[in-house]
Amino acid sequence: MSLKTRAHSKTEKSNLSPMQASTSTMIDHQPRVGISQCLLGDEVRFDGGHKRDVFLTDVLASFVEWVPVCPEVEAGLGTPREAMHLAGDPAAPRLLTIRTKIDHTDVLQAFSQRRAKELHECDLDGYIFKKNSPSCGVHRVKVYSEKGHPGRQGTGIFSAAMQEAFPLLPVEEEGRLNDAPIRENFIVRIFCYRRWKTQIQQHRITRGMIVDFHARHKYLLLTHSRSHYHDLGQLVAKAGDYTPSDLATRYGALFMEALKNKATVRKHVNVLQHLAGHFSKQLSPIERAELQETIQDYHQYFTPLAVPLTLIKHYVRILAVPYLMDQVYLNPHPKELMLRNHV
Ligand code: SF4
Repeated sequence: MSLKTRAHSKTEKSNLSPMQASTSTMIDHQPRVGISQCLLGDEVRFDGGHKRDVFLTDVLASFVEWVPVCPEVEAGLGTPREAMHLAGDPAAPRLLTIRTKIDHTDVLQAFSQRRAKELHECDLDGYIFKKNSPSCGVHRVKVYSEKGHPGRQGTGIFSAAMQEAFPLLPVEEEGRLNDAPIRENFIVRIFCYRRWKTQIQQHRITRGMIVDFHARHKYLLLTHSRSHYHDLGQLVAKAGDYTPSDLATRYGALFMEALKNKATVRKHVNVLQHLAGHFSKQLSPIERAELQETIQDYHQYFTPLAVPLTLIKHYVRILAVPYLMDQVYLNPHPKELMLRNHV
């Protein structure tokens, strides 16, 4: 099967600082992200149009490889085609054309099973679906009752099959990506998933490798879920009780589950204070006060996360704090995306 990709990185490793390089070289290639094809500007919609999303095509495209899929076109329904919606039981809805009531459920389901198997070969790191679509929508897709009343509890047929086939895969809708914290969280997840898979695919799995991976993700995990970080720590502490591959399976599943929890300002402030604690004794009283002020300004929403983090990264670099230099939290995704200027 040919892998259809759209973009290549503009980020050269030689332009990276040593601290950036230490985290980015843990990825063997750009994250590979499945996407509803209409979001890239391809005219595959029922009306022959598209739903090009500028952030995806003009910004994120430089940092990922797209794997575009239009399930309705690939299943043979053609373009243009009659508009469809979901109807019946929200837990097992039917996909019907709106005017002629033709039922395409079986065609779409058979296609979805087949395509999900093919997509295993693509080694996807994330998926961005078109919102509200009866095939691609993830959240609150309209499902019509027999009387024609819409309820918003459905999931698109293809999107449901993909989520079942790839339970760890980070999945989002393009509409939700307009929310800065959701966007940052999703992109953290796809880069983390790529990093984790690079570790277990490129190296012989050892318990030491998993312990090291856990240590480097400590502060990132703490901004998402303290309880998951604790549980992952317990798992790593009992590494000897498992075979390395069993440990990797358990760790990978819990790690990706942890990252589903959204990072909050409060959790970031906690982590920033921990990071500062590693080197604050080496700062002058004025430097210490200035660092505290930037953290408090962020806490009170006067400045974005990028401000205190830039200062912390500066001190980590000039004071050469080795444990922190390896922390993925400081550079979880390419800085050119400027995601932390908006959270
Ligand atoms: S929402 Fe999905 S099925 Fe509809 S046009 Fe876009 S890619 Fe195709």
